[in-house]
Amino acid sequence: MDFSVHYCPCCTYGDTHTHTRYLTKGHGSRTILHCRRCDIYFSETFATPISGLKTPLSRIITILKARSEGMSLNATARTHNVSKKSVIDWERRLSGLKPTLMLYSLVHQFIHQEIEGDELYTKVNKNKPPSESQGWTIVLMERGSRFLWELHCGRKDQQLFEKALQCLAQVIEQTDNLSLLTDGERRYGNILFDICHDIIRNGKPGRPLKRLPKGVRVRIKNKGAKTKKGRPRQKYQSPIPEHPDTAHEVSNEEIHANHVEAFNASMRRRNATFRRKTNTYAKSRKSLQRTLDVFWLIHNFTRVHFTTKVVPAVKLGILKTRLSWPQILTMRYAV
Ligand SMILES: [Zn+2]
Repeated sequence: MDFSVHYCPCCTYGDTHTHTRYLTKGHGSRTILHCRRCDIYFSETFATPISGLKTPLSRIITILKARSEGMSLNATARTHNVSKKSVIDWERRLSGLKPTLMLYSLVHQFIHQEIEGDELYTKVNKNKPPSESQGWTIVLMERGSRFLWELHCGRKDQQLFEKALQCLAQVIEQTDNLSLLTDGERRYGNILFDICHDIIRNGKPGRPLKRLPKGVRVRIKNKGAKTKKGRPRQKYQSPIPEHPDTAHEVSNEEIHANHVEAFNASMRRRNATFRRKTNTYAKSRKSLQRTLDVFWLIHNFTRVHFTTKVVPAVKLGILKTRLSWPQILTMRYAV
């Protein structure tokens, strides 16, 4: 996928050329393209987040940037003299790109990935006990690159974990060697095992063995240094049976590094709905998910990471350079 080529929305080939240019009120000049194969004309903004918008692109970018650096919806609306409805509309348009970029990310092959799983909590609408709240957010982050594979919110139940781990199962298909490290929550391993496993027939009598796919490891960190009986506790457990050909070692250092923790802090700073002890919390699960999808896009493809000095998608090897704000806003949705 080359982001600079205008593919034809009809035949999806890049055999297009500029037909005419015209001047818009707020966006400068726009191009009408022509496809030589199907002989159709289309605008360069066809099926992109900004199609049909009249507000200047620079203004949309300024406002979405303010939002993505942690400004609440009300504060953004007041500071930038814009209606909340418009901001929500722009965010919804932008978040619509998530499936496209997810698809794009999943066509790549990876040699090795270490993925940390964690859950983050915020209140949604009313103060409810955490067990009833829809504000639980599962984060699956590739450690070296800080690429977020999953950022999904809902009630902390089986369904939430299943959704996240179905995404992980797709990542596993593209990866030779993958470790999943989690902090205490056992459902990751169990559900992953239900979703993807290999059946091993070794010729011995009895039922064939069920194992994790080759190259996949699950590690759960044990909390506390000692067991209830006072014995020193193992640092981690590997609760799920692994494929006999998987190399077993994950060094303690690897297990103890914790990047999601730092990520959580950044999330609380940059997404107003996650700020503690304020009333900037999200009003519904859907709107929380919208802000998370925008966060996912900006974090993975646009914002340079403080530690690695590149965007996570570049570090992971799926992009050569970061996507700028204008690039991401003029990207076409996958049909
Ligand atoms: Zn065409």
